[in-house]
Amino acid sequence: MTLRTGVRERWVRTGEVELCVAERGDPGRPTVVLVHGYPDSKEVWSEVAERLAGHFHVVTYDVRGHGRSTAPRPLRGGFTLEKLTDDFLAVADAVSPDRPVHLVGHDWGSVQAWEFTTVKRTEGRIASLTSMSGPSLDHFGHWINRRMRRPTPRRVGQLLGQGARSWYVYLLHTPVLPELAWRGPLGKRWPGVLERVEKVPRGDGYPTSSLPSDAARGAWLYRDNVRPRLREPRPDAHAHAPVQLITPLGDRFLSERLYDDLEQWVPQLTRRTVAAGHWIPRTRPDQLAAWIEEFVRSVENGRSPVAAGGRHAERFGGQLVLVTGAGSGIGRATALAFAEAGARVVAVDRDGQAAARTAESALRRGARQAWSETTDVSDQRAMEALADKVATEYGVVDVLVNNAGIGLSGSFFDTTPEDWKKVLDVNLWGVIHGCRLFGRRMAERGQGGHIVNVASAAAYQPTRALPAYSTSKAAVLMLSECLRAELAGQGIGVSAVCPGFVNTAITSTAHFAGVDAQEEKRLQRRAARLYGLRNYPPEKVARAILRAVVRDEAVVPVTPEARAARMLSRFAPGALRRIARVRPPV
Ligand code: NAD
Repeated sequence: MTLRTGVRERWVRTGEVELCVAERGDPGRPTVVLVHGYPDSKEVWSEVAERLAGHFHVVTYDVRGHGRSTAPRPLRGGFTLEKLTDDFLAVADAVSPDRPVHLVGHDWGSVQAWEFTTVKRTEGRIASLTSMSGPSLDHFGHWINRRMRRPTPRRVGQLLGQGARSWYVYLLHTPVLPELAWRGPLGKRWPGVLERVEKVPRGDGYPTSSLPSDAARGAWLYRDNVRPRLREPRPDAHAHAPVQLITPLGDRFLSERLYDDLEQWVPQLTRRTVAAGHWIPRTRPDQLAAWIEEFVRSVENGRSPVAAGGRHAERFGGQLVLVTGAGSGIGRATALAFAEAGARVVAVDRDGQAAARTAESALRRGARQAWSETTDVSDQRAMEALADKVATEYGVVDVLVNNAGIGLSGSFFDTTPEDWKKVLDVNLWGVIHGCRLFGRRMAERGQGGHIVNVASAAAYQPTRALPAYSTSKAAVLMLSECLRAELAGQGIGVSAVCPGFVNTAITSTAHFAGVDAQEEKRLQRRAARLYGLRNYPPEKVARAILRAVVRDEAVVPVTPEARAARMLSRFAPGALRRIARVRPPV
């Protein structure tokens, strides 16, 4: 039967059960077997499988009792991990008799895949495992035991935290009730629940109409395995293949802490994190397909699959990051910090040569790929062309950093309309264009992302010396807050980063209104000297930017003076107003 173009279905017998197996792509290429979880069928993988099919021989199958596979009789005792391992080996022998397969598991598919990857009889049949949202029951058992034996307050907290997330596991152990619920109201409402709670888009044949019976029968996965394994976890559950662990940070069923001890079980472990909920095969297919492809290729090519070592590499490895104003200062440092984390970096600047230098350094620092683009962020047409080019050539941006900005100093009456226009065009309109053009594509893709807008402490600290600059930055701060509210439901975070005095070239390019060219030069030199004395490096701002994305922070003052001003603006605005009156030294 053919469900989508290029999908071939067949049946594989294992004992009394017939498994429905779907294949995509060229069988001559490395085989990737995707195992679904609970309550699901192989269609949970359709988005990821479609993306991988151009590169690999991609196989999905309905776990026994699910989808179009037949169920064991009786159900009780028919879903043990031993039987599920028989099924996997039967599928692997049918689809890739001569070469080991790359396994990918989600939820219970991952629980199973851990079993396959840690038992002796599958050795040599598995080339790698990519696991998401489903721990090894043996590792989980040891994790619990270790915390019970040495119950420090932190460990008890971890136990209670995971215990609370496992409420549904206790329910599934009650007799009959889960079956009644799934075959009744819960089964009907499930697509709506997934959409509301997990942001899983409806349609496209998922979830399938078999869901109520999948969920009812699949309760035996839990009943047949969880208690016995947690009570007596195997002592030798070591992985015999490299493992890539993808941890969704917003998983409401599994705590990140579950994987703390994993290195002891897995000699070659690559960690990844993604800001998303539990159902990532549906909500983050692009990211998953990219990580699976990269991991499988590196194992196939005999390269060490461990991700680049920089800070936050587990989060940003392979992500597409675009930074404006990347030719100098904070933008350059930010592009390089993302490069060290293994991102794919687009360095944008109106100074093309400076952008190209940043892209070259990015490659040396560990970026998977790096490009430079010469664009003036204040030019709407140019930004539209850039957004089109990036979308067609590099993909949808995962992290956008609107950083390009210029300085403008001088009293309100010295600031000409042209000065105002220039600073607002770059500092505000540049950010608006970036958010509109790249943010829209992010939102339309529906797979999350993050926007960082570089504002300034001047956004909340008034001063008579910088009326235009401060106004532009206050607007960026408010725009960021509004956009954050608008995009919250779509998994897109927005952060406004507000540095104080940072030692960059901005001082020597800033315009000083109301003075002649010679005086302007002198003021620029003096500002550069003062910022040099303060000597706060742009690399520290870059670190704060990466952290803001990881933690999804709303407003991030950077430098002690920026933090102090933020406090004053909230708790003693009168004091800040008095400071605002101080004349800048001449
Ligand atoms: P910088 O001058 O070192 O770097 C700015 C970069 O932006 C330069 O490479 C420049 O060519 C580029 N750029 C300027 N206008 C552009 C345009 N229209 N289109 C494309 N690129 C453009 O300055 P920096 O200190 O790194 O500043 C970066 C951001 O940080 C700015 O938004 C700035 O307002 C903000 N900021 C800086 C400080 C500070 O003390 N340096 C403090 C607070 C906020």
